[in-house]
Amino acid sequence: MEQKQEVCPHCGGTKLVAGVQQQQGRVWPYPARGLNLGQELIHIICKSCGTVVRSYVDYPEDLKDFK
Ligand SMILES: [Zn+2]
Repeated sequence: MEQKQEVCPHCGGTKLVAGVQQQQGRVWPYPARGLNLGQELIHIICKSCGTVVRSYVDYPEDLKDFK
């Protein structure tokens, strides 16, 4: 599968890095379920200006459908 080239919408930069939001920034299914440990929120960040270009979770199937 071809990787889509992501570009910073703020400065047009193409040097992107990944950061992960952990601890209290974890993402849980909503409404929260009992024993679910949540998951990390991963941010793709422009290395030039620091803009968050994209945020995602690795396991969207663990979340509930939005109604
Ligand atoms: Zn940028």
